[in-house]
Parts: sequence; structure tokens; C-alpha cells
Amino acid sequence: MATVSFREATRLFPGAERPAVDRFSLEIGDGEFMVLVGPSGCGKSTSLRMLAGLEEVNSGSVWIGDRDVTHLPPKDRDIAMVFQNYALYPHMTVGENMGFALKMQNVGKEEREQRVGEAAKLLGLEEFLNRKPKALSGGQRQRVAMGRAIVRQPQVFLMDEPLSNLDAKLRVSTRTQITALQTRLGVTTVYVTHDQVEAMTMGDRVAVMKDGILQQVDSPLALYDTPRNLFVASFIGSPSMNLVSGQVTEGGVLVGDTVIPVSREVLGRAGGEQVLTVGVRPENFELSETDEGIALDIAVVEQLGADSYLYGTPTGTGAADDLTAPQIVARITSRRPPQVGAQVRLAVSPDYVHVFSPTTGERLS
Ligand code: ATP
Repeated sequence: MATVSFREATRLFPGAERPAVDRFSLEIGDGEFMVLVGPSGCGKSTSLRMLAGLEEVNSGSVWIGDRDVTHLPPKDRDIAMVFQNYALYPHMTVGENMGFALKMQNVGKEEREQRVGEAAKLLGLEEFLNRKPKALSGGQRQRVAMGRAIVRQPQVFLMDEPLSNLDAKLRVSTRTQITALQTRLGVTTVYVTHDQVEAMTMGDRVAVMKDGILQQVDSPLALYDTPRNLFVASFIGSPSMNLVSGQVTEGGVLVGDTVIPVSREVLGRAGGEQVLTVGVRPENFELSETDEGIALDIAVVEQLGADSYLYGTPTGTGAADDLTAPQIVARITSRRPPQVGAQVRLAVSPDYVHVFSPTTGERLS
């Protein structure tokens, strides 16, 4: 079984004040596609490199199946890694690049050619097998890098930002190809990205990291619907969740001149905190026909075709041009949105209000 397990794995670089990865624990299932995501410097590549054997583990351990691989050299771990820069050998053809690792393992020529041929077919690379990498497009090089990993038939695929050198359109199509390929091959995969859209669309589960510390690991939808803290709430989702702070009052939290509804039960969990942070995703607002809901002075309207984004400041929280006043964005499914300068009312159901403690950042709802 190619499960992967990080057990309190820690990496402290010499001279650093705090660990780049701090007591990282994560269980990855056999055949699972796990994405590690977080902003630059959060420790996701270091975690992957500890699993690959390219980075020392200072304390804790790393397991593949029932093997403790913490101190094994990379070649003995039965993994294959796809790097950001693909790391293809420029003097070798595509076929030789793909078969090189097998040659090093003394796999015979016939079997090598067969495995390279199968991978090339799977990836649509058959016509390029005799070309050198420099005669390929970026997308084709990316596929060769994938092919090189596939022919090794490893227990685990490790991928570190494998799409970052592709243009936006190719990134989307390659993203779906990798997902389909992984489903077909069923090989346990650990995939690193800083892009939350990639994380949400590709991962069976997603592990969100910040400052070397795992924040939450969950299915994409669970992360979206119940982010455990303010960091995850604002990191997952685009545009970001609206987060505003306000005084606790009867029935909810007061933002500007409006009470955002919060259940008594959730307010009870606040433990006497008088100011709470409430979060609402842009698509969970609705234009209200009544005088209920947050009054918003619209500063900007963006039309995206099917949807429109309304940006503005809740009335009573500051002037529209006050950069310190909270900004709200609402996604409205209308081709005829209200105009700049208009005031609208945005209603939200209590079911869609996320509540956080501003002191600990933890979710209360
Ligand atoms: P990015 O998306 O920018 O690659 P990341 O989340 O993958 O970021 P890491 O590369 O894992 O982050 O780095 C985590 C922290 O460890 C950072 O603060 C980084 O500066 C530090 N770090 C990484 N490699 C080394 C090294 N070889 N020596 C010292 N510090 C390092």
C-alpha cells in the first residue's frame, strides 16, 4: 500500500530562527491526490523535499507504506518527482530522457522501449520521441517530464509546481490532463502549488500551510464551506471571502448600520468577546428588495459576462474613498447590475455567515 505519512516532520535550516516546517503531520491515502498549498515561503516545497529525500528531517519521521523512509536516500524511496523546471537532459532525445532512469536501474532495452512507448502514447508524445527538448514547446516539455515519472512506475508521484512555466490557457488544459492521468493510474500523488484554484480543482484533499504550520487538511468543498481559521478563509476562494469586524449585538454582529445575523449558539461560543469577525463569500449575498441587509455604496462594477462583481463600502463604516473602510465584494448573477454610485442592500442568510474570533483567528460558527 502506497500510503504516505508525515509524523511531526520538522525541518530547521541551519541558522534559521524557526523551522521552515514545524511538526508537520499528514496521512495520505493509497491512490489519493493530495495538494499542499500556501503562500510563498510557507514550507510546502520543503515538506515535499523531505518526502523525496532531498531535504534532511531534523525531527519526526516520514513513511511510505509501512517503511520508515526518513533516512533512506532518494533512489531507494520508490518515488518519482516532477519539478517546476522539468530538469530534462538537453543532449538526450525525448525517448532517452524518458527511459534514462530505467537504464540506470539496469532495466533491459526491450522493456525500456515498451514502457517508454506506453507512456508516450498515454501522453500523446509518440511523434516527438526522437526530438531534443529544445525543439519542443513548453507544454510538450511538461509532458515529457510527466512521462519520465510515469515510466518508473513509482509508488508515489511528487510534483512541485509542475504547471508554473506554462501560460494561463495551457495551465488549465494541462491541469485537467494531470488530474485525468492520476485518476487513471491511481498512483498516490503529492502536489505542491501556491495557486488555490489548482489546489481546489485537482486535490482529493488539500493541505493548507502557513509559516511552516499545517492549518487545515480537508476536501476542497469542506475547506471552502468551513474554513477553520481566518487564514484559510481568506486564502481559499477568489475573490476572497469578505471579512469585517463588528460589535456583538442582539441577534448578530453590527457592521455599519446593519446587523449581520449570527445565531445565539455561535455568539455563545465567543466567550464574552465583544468584537467578532464575520465572513461572507461574495456569491452568498443577494440583492435585497427590502430595507433589510447591508447597505452598500457601490464604488466599482465589474461585468464578467454571466456574473457581475459589485465593490463598495458598507454605509456607515466610512467614506467610499476611505481606504481603511472595509471593502465588500458581492457576486451578482445579473447582466444588468446596479450602477456605480447607487446604493443597494445586500442580504445574507445566517447559514452563509462565517464567524471568527479576531483574537485567535479560529472559527466559531
Ligand atoms: P515557494 O512557493 O516560494 O517555493 P514554499 O512554500 O515552497 O515557497 P519553502 O521553499 O519550503 O517554501 O521554504 C520555506 C522556508 O524555508 C522559507 O522561509 C525559505 O526561505 C526557507 N528555506 C528554503 N530552503 C532553504 C535553504 N536551503 N536554506 C535556508 N532556508 C531555506
